[in-house]
Amino acid sequence: MSDQKSKKIELPAVITVRDFAQKIDVSAINIIRKLMENGMMVTINQSIDFDTAAIVAAEMGYDAVLEKAEVVEEKETGEVPMWRKVIAKEDQAVLTPRPPVVTILGHVDHGKTTLLDAIRNANVAAGEAGGITQHIGAYQVELKGRQITFLDTPGHAAFTAMRARGAQGADIVVLVVAADDGVMPQTKEAIAHAKAARVPIIVALNKIDKANSNPDRVKQQLGENGLVPDEWGGNTFVVPISAKQRQGIEDLLETILLVADNTDIRANSKGAVIGTVIEAELDKSKGPVATLLVQNGTLKVGDIVVAGVAYGRLRAQFDFRGRPVQKAGPSVPVSVMGLNELPSAGDLFQVVSTEKEARQIILERQEAAKQQASAQKKMTLEELFSRYKSGEAKELNLILKADVQGSLEPILGEINHLGAGEIKVNVLYAETGNVSENDVMLASASQAIIVGFSVQADVAARRLAEAEGVSIRLYDIIYRLTEDLEKALKGMLQPEFSEKVIGKASVLAVFNLSKGGKVAGCRVTEGEVRRNAKVRLLRGKDIVYVGDVASLKHEKEDVREMRTGFECGLGLKNFNDIQVGDLIECYVLEKTEKE
Ligand code: GDP
Repeated sequence: MSDQKSKKIELPAVITVRDFAQKIDVSAINIIRKLMENGMMVTINQSIDFDTAAIVAAEMGYDAVLEKAEVVEEKETGEVPMWRKVIAKEDQAVLTPRPPVVTILGHVDHGKTTLLDAIRNANVAAGEAGGITQHIGAYQVELKGRQITFLDTPGHAAFTAMRARGAQGADIVVLVVAADDGVMPQTKEAIAHAKAARVPIIVALNKIDKANSNPDRVKQQLGENGLVPDEWGGNTFVVPISAKQRQGIEDLLETILLVADNTDIRANSKGAVIGTVIEAELDKSKGPVATLLVQNGTLKVGDIVVAGVAYGRLRAQFDFRGRPVQKAGPSVPVSVMGLNELPSAGDLFQVVSTEKEARQIILERQEAAKQQASAQKKMTLEELFSRYKSGEAKELNLILKADVQGSLEPILGEINHLGAGEIKVNVLYAETGNVSENDVMLASASQAIIVGFSVQADVAARRLAEAEGVSIRLYDIIYRLTEDLEKALKGMLQPEFSEKVIGKASVLAVFNLSKGGKVAGCRVTEGEVRRNAKVRLLRGKDIVYVGDVASLKHEKEDVREMRTGFECGLGLKNFNDIQVGDLIECYVLEKTEKE
C-alpha cells in the first residue's frame, strides 16, 4: 500500500483490464501481474469487477468509487434493437416486469437440443396438462409461478441473423458447455455474440454425469475467456447440469430468474405492439404461418400486423401448445395466420391501424433496406472512421485472426497501445486460423472489421465478405497491421485496394524448367491471365499460394496476356509446388471508390 495521499477515481461495475490500465495510467502488463499475484488469470481483453479493480487501484495509490449506473441503451454504440427503443419511449411508470426471453447457444454436440427438451419436459412433468404438440420455435415454462420464454432455435445462425437485423430478441444467453469437452471454437463465438449484443450469459456446465467430465478445467477456460465463475469471485453463474439425466434443470431455471431480476426486463402490455419474428414457414393448408415473439404491447386476433415486408390481418393465433389464443402479451410467443407472405426470422413486427398504413411502412422498409445495403458496402476502415468523426461510433470493433497463438499476443499488445486515443479499439475475439465464414458473419452483425496476420481468407469467407460489405485486411508484417490501424484511427488511412478477379485458368500439366523451377501448363477458362497481375493458386477449397506471375508464355513466346480458350505456360514467383488440377485465379488490385 502506498503512503501517499490517494487519488480518487471512478470505476464502472465491470471494466476490461485494458480500460482499467488506461484509466489509472499503469501498463496493462503490471495489472495482469498484480492480478496473477492474487491468483487471478486474466488477459488484457477480459473484464474484472469493481471490487477486484478497486483492490488493484488501491495498491497503485488510487481510491476507487463506483461510477453511477449508466443508462446503457443510450451510451452503447450500434445496435439497440428497435423494440428496446419503443420500450424506452414508453412512460417508465407503466412498465411492468415481463418473462425473460432466453436463447441457448454453445458448441455443436454440447447438448443444446437435449437441454431444450429437458426443460420443456420438466415443465410438462411439473403438472402442465396437454403437452406440446407442435414446434413453433419458442416455448414457455413456469417456475414458482413465474414464466420463462425459451427460443427453441439453437445455433448461431438464427442468433446472428437476428442480431444482424438489429432485432436481438433474447434477454439472457444460456451457454451450454460440455464438462468433458470444455470451451470450443463455437463456445468462443457464442461468447463474442453475447458480448457484442450485451446480453448476460449463464453457463450451463453440461454432461457432469460423464466419468471424464472436468468442471474445474472448464471453469478455468471460462475465466480465460472473460467469464469468471461467481464462485471464483467473478460474475458469471456456472450451473452444473446433466441435460440427459435431467439433473440441475431447476437450478438453471432459478438462476435464469435470478439474473432476470438483476436485468431490466420490462414492457408495457398496454403499449404499442412490437416484437420479433422467430420463424416462419408456408403451411399447405394455412398459408404463411409465423412465430412472433411479442416484446411490447398485446397482440390480438384481428390486429393488422406488418412483419418485415409481409403484412395482413391476423386470422388466428396459437400458443406454443397449439391452443388458439385471443391475446398474447410481452415475452409470449405465438404462431399466427393471416400474413400475405413469409417474413424472415429476425424481422421486426408491429401492429398498425390500417392496411394502407401497413403497405406504406413496407415501402419505406424496402427503401431503407436498399440504403442500408449500400451503406454496408462502405464498411471500410475509412468509412468507419468518418462515422467516428460524426460521433456515430466510438469503438472500432475488430476480429483478429493469426497463424499461431504466439503472434496473437504481441499483436493484441500493440493494439492495446493504439486504443489510447478517444476511439476505443474493441477486440471481439482473437483466434488462430484462417478467416472463415463465421468470422465474417460475426463481423457483419457487429459492424466489425477483420484483421488477419499471416493467414488467408477462405473462399467462402471472401464471397460472404463481399456480399455483406465486410472489410478483411490481411497482413504479414505486424507493424504494417498496427500502422494501418493507427492511421485508420487518425483518419489518415490510404484508400483501400480491393481485388478484382480478371481471369481463371486450370492447370493441365506441370513442366520442369531446365534451369530449375516449374511452370504450369494451363488453359484459360475465364477472362484473361496477365503477366503483370497477381495470382492465387487454389487446390480444392484451399488457397495454396498468393503472389505474382513470374512468366507467361504462349508456344515459347513471352506474352503479356492470354485470353479464354488459349493454352499457356505460367510460372509463379518463388513457388514450384504446382499440381495438375490446381486452379489459378488471376486478379488485379483496384483502388476502392470513395463516395
Ligand atoms: P447439440 O448439438 O448442442 O444440440 O447437442 P445434442 O443435444 O444433440 O447432444 C449431443 C449428444 O450429447 C447427444 O448424443 C446427447 O445425448 C448427448 N448429451 C447431451 N446432454 C448430455 C448429458 O448431460 N450427459 C451425457 N452423458 N450426454 C449428453
